[in-house]
Amino acid sequence: MGELRERFWELPLGDLTRPEWEALCDGCGRCCLHKLEDADTGEIHDTNVACRLLDTQTARCSDYRNRKAFVPDCLRLTLRIVEQVSWLPSTCAYRLRADAHPLPQWHYLISGDRDAVRRAGVSVIGRVVSEIDAGPIEHHITDWPSPRPDRTAYEAEEEGA
Ligand code: SF4
Repeated sequence: MGELRERFWELPLGDLTRPEWEALCDGCGRCCLHKLEDADTGEIHDTNVACRLLDTQTARCSDYRNRKAFVPDCLRLTLRIVEQVSWLPSTCAYRLRADAHPLPQWHYLISGDRDAVRRAGVSVIGRVVSEIDAGPIEHHITDWPSPRPDRTAYEAEEEGA
């Protein structure tokens, strides 16, 4: 992480370099799940159906570099998009920092542990199905738990340790 400034995640999002912006992602995979919009109310529903490129066992994009070639509507998050969209989860590092909140204790930049996002109950690892196998997406509407970013099972566990 030589090109990353010390504690860069405390800087305003707009001040981050490209590598710092990329490194801010906690790897939860939630933004790689399909959402359904209610045509009447405009309400956005979460599903447990993942983009075809998401590795459902690691919550990582299997071809991040070339993803636009396979999934043309894949969004590259920018500060403007983060500020505009309502569907990023409350735990998303970009959403938190856009709202001037600190990163949670389980974020790997704080904990030093890439698996902590899974133990905190935030990652999609093992909880989603690929769109290739899912069938009708209407059958997959899901209420994802939204742990308060400042209080999670991971943090309770760590405090009790
Ligand atoms: S929801 Fe936010 S933190 Fe999670 S993978 Fe997507 S961009 Fe990264």
